[in-house]
Amino acid sequence: MKKTMLLLSILLIAISSAAKTKTPTTVAFVDVNVVPMDKERVLPHQTVMVRNGAIVEIGDVKRIKIPAGAQRIDGTGKFLIPGLSDMHVHLFTDDDFPDALAEDEFKIMIAHGVTTIRLMTGTPEQLALRGKSAKEEITAPTIYAASPQFTGRKSSNAYVVTTELDARTAVRESKQAGYDFIKVTTFLKPEIYEAIVDEAQKQNIRVVGHADSRSVGLARALKARQQIEHLDSYLEALLPETSPVKGSVSDIYLYNPKNWESLDYLDESKIPELARLTVQSNPFVTPTLHLFKFTFGKGRTEESFKAQSDLRFYPQKTIDLWMGVSRKYLSAAAPIEKREKYITIRNKITKAIYDAGGRVMAGSDTPEWLMLYGHTLHLELIDLRDAGLSNYAALEAATRNPALFFGTLDKTGTIEKGKQADLVLLEANPLEDIANTQKRAGVMLKGRYYPQPELNQWLDEIAPRFQHALDDQK
Ligand SMILES: [Zn+2]
Repeated sequence: MKKTMLLLSILLIAISSAAKTKTPTTVAFVDVNVVPMDKERVLPHQTVMVRNGAIVEIGDVKRIKIPAGAQRIDGTGKFLIPGLSDMHVHLFTDDDFPDALAEDEFKIMIAHGVTTIRLMTGTPEQLALRGKSAKEEITAPTIYAASPQFTGRKSSNAYVVTTELDARTAVRESKQAGYDFIKVTTFLKPEIYEAIVDEAQKQNIRVVGHADSRSVGLARALKARQQIEHLDSYLEALLPETSPVKGSVSDIYLYNPKNWESLDYLDESKIPELARLTVQSNPFVTPTLHLFKFTFGKGRTEESFKAQSDLRFYPQKTIDLWMGVSRKYLSAAAPIEKREKYITIRNKITKAIYDAGGRVMAGSDTPEWLMLYGHTLHLELIDLRDAGLSNYAALEAATRNPALFFGTLDKTGTIEKGKQADLVLLEANPLEDIANTQKRAGVMLKGRYYPQPELNQWLDEIAPRFQHALDDQK
């Protein structure tokens, strides 16, 4: 009797330890259409096998043997794409949301298929989160973090640099702190900008961000090989010398309705040359089309705000604030014909840069302006398509191109053997309609698979926490 008990308990221990070593085990997407994004093609009836966070095998469903005990995900009729990158993101927790909610922010992104992000205004908290994400101590996308913004005027999360010495010191500090890029914004005097660029080159760190149309301008930014966001200063660069109006419609200058008169004088024949110069200088651009089209081009009404499903993630105080800003903007905005032209020209510039061999990258600039990260990235993809890019080129902007930009194409950005297993399973083909990236069946982050119903449950749990995030604040 005693002997049997002993044997039994040994057996039980053996079983439980075997179970322990078996997780995480192999995951197999079975009979799935793979959209590898190495070139424009779909590989039908594939099995994609994942182990220890990496893709270990891809091949015909009839050929690939799936080991016993592997987790099987039925891919029949579904499409597998690389995980998505959002190249222009901020966090609620950068500013007034409690830091404890940062992990929820990341979960929202993952729930929308975003597995890599570039945070565009750095904070020390972000560096800590980047480290935790890399060690998989938190459930988060792969994080890149630009430095605090380099600006000429007082602002939050900023290096206010008004002397060359300040500028150079701040670049060195940013590099030492471990930021991935130097982020420039507005009001930098030309000589300060030059000092930043020069010091960044010495420190071997890239400069990304805005190109202030007043103080820096496109020519200087291109000469510096800066990676430019928002198509800053491009419309201004289309103005002929002889134009009687020189008003800027980039960045904060677009709040001045008088500046929009410049749209009557743009010389569109300059677009191909600007595109060529861009590609020669730095082929990577993040036009953030959706933000500018939706908010400043079309203009957002109370009804359009209320129709947004992502509004449930915002505290009432934040909603009231942005609705107020939007109302104020629209009450004095340029006539709709000018704003439509603004959308058209921004689209044409984006398409021209693409046609010239540029690497367009998808960025949402969320959660600014009551637009939620993850969610808005998919709208950006649609707007890239509407600007004239193919569905494939739009998807490249959130997969392959960011990997090229980060220099990680050997590990990410496409679906190939040996790559990091960041994947999104879709119900329909995104190369037929890019809007199909919103028909998700599930998301795999670093080899762990989350079915969409589970991710939707995350969202339902997080939304009320965000709605009440500022309740304690006056
Ligand atoms: Zn931004």
